[in-house]
Amino acid sequence: MSDKKYISTRGQQRPLDFYDAILQGIGNDGGLLVPNFELEQKDLKALQHLSYVDMATEIITSFVGENEKEEIRELCQKAYGNGLFPQEVVPVKQAGDVYIAELFQGPTAAFKDMALSLLPHFMTYSLKKKGEERKVMILAATSGDTGKAALEGFKDVEGTYIQVFYPEDGVSPIQKQQMVTQTGQNVDVVGIQGNFDDAQSAVKQAFQSKELKDLCDQHHVFLSSANSINIGRLIPQVVYYFYAYMTLVNEKKIALNEAVNFTIPSGNFGNCLAGVIAKKMGLPIQKFIVASNKNNILTDFFRTGRYDARRDFYKTNAPAMDILVSSNLERLVYMMAQDSQKVRNYMEQLNQQGVYEISSDLLEKIQTLFKAGWLDEDEVLETVKNCFEETGYLLDTHTAIGYGVYKEYQKAFRDSTKTIILATASPYKFADSVYQALENKDLSEYEAIEAVCQKTGVAIPKPLVALDQREVLHQQVIDKSEIIDAISQKIKEISL
Ligand SMILES: *Cc1c(COP(=O)(O)O)cnc(C)c1O
Repeated sequence: MSDKKYISTRGQQRPLDFYDAILQGIGNDGGLLVPNFELEQKDLKALQHLSYVDMATEIITSFVGENEKEEIRELCQKAYGNGLFPQEVVPVKQAGDVYIAELFQGPTAAFKDMALSLLPHFMTYSLKKKGEERKVMILAATSGDTGKAALEGFKDVEGTYIQVFYPEDGVSPIQKQQMVTQTGQNVDVVGIQGNFDDAQSAVKQAFQSKELKDLCDQHHVFLSSANSINIGRLIPQVVYYFYAYMTLVNEKKIALNEAVNFTIPSGNFGNCLAGVIAKKMGLPIQKFIVASNKNNILTDFFRTGRYDARRDFYKTNAPAMDILVSSNLERLVYMMAQDSQKVRNYMEQLNQQGVYEISSDLLEKIQTLFKAGWLDEDEVLETVKNCFEETGYLLDTHTAIGYGVYKEYQKAFRDSTKTIILATASPYKFADSVYQALENKDLSEYEAIEAVCQKTGVAIPKPLVALDQREVLHQQVIDKSEIIDAISQKIKEISL
């Protein structure tokens, strides 16, 4: 068994090994799990020519233990080497003077696939290692992308079941169609009359319910979550930072050991935090440029040190970044402060007053590494249009925020360091906004997919081709008050 242990950012969880950390998902003190060991310094030269699967194996093994390398390789092969992704997994393109790492080439055309195609294998592996004979039932509340990526990831994975709850009127037609046409023997998709918060709080309630716990025990089932607070979603994301960097080295765009910047369209901050871990493992990253939409709470935090959630919530044309409580920021504060008492105080203030402010020495430290900025909705559309006209590269609305914020940064700081923007969605996932950006006209989402393809010649990703013609397999819609009942029902069916 590995001696690599995980502890909570709030300091009151006994250390867990990798498998328990994956299965438990969150600290029982409410904090997030973080590595409690010196991160391994990677030898860049040794990683330079590795395939994605081999690089993932090298990096992920650092979080589990050297003697598990062959088993980790098998899991990585299943996730990234079995045809779910293209050969190079994360293609790196160029748009003008920046590089764009496409994290959206997976089975649902969204960046969530990078982690959610591996997490299910981590889960079954951990169950096996722990001699756990129960089945896992994954519960997920989704506002769109996570639900579909989790369904694809867990589809037909042995020993697992997954039930996804989405707000019937709170996801885009494309996102809904992706979910209700989901195939697989172990999947269940349920619409709810209510909003995302209703779905999320019912799912959280399910984890606390004594009645469900008893029912689970009786049926040899075990509840878990595919939420981005799980460390098992973070670790796979460290890999593509190294991989995108090495792609540029191999293409002679940068020298080995040359420092680069990364720009990250951010919401829950998991994507960016994986980069912070990559840097700690020796990847030469100079700056992280954190990009937000009109829900610009992260921009304010990085500029002032104040995290103030007492503000209006906006629904924007980059909906995957519409978020006010950015969970993974807690991990950053912990990693930079190395002080769980401090984190506990901040989080208590956030819970009670909706705001906290970090100490000035901590802010100074954070600001040496991070810059932040945001775009409003009109600027997002302008950026999509300008980038396409100037460079021929078609951005989705989320990635456009990264691109636009980077351009502002470049102008303000005259930093000529080579920069990689992480592209988090295919432009076709938000085709109506992209079409509006290009043509200044409205079309329905499906018409927009065709029209954008006509106009730009960019190929429609396979997961979205003829999506509207696929058979609807999940029609159940329930009231939000019936969620717990629906979960009980499912648990009873599983063990039949
Ligand atoms: C989830 C998501 C993000 C935000 O990523 P975080 O890791 O939550 O910061 C950005 N863009 C898209 C398209 C996403 O699905």
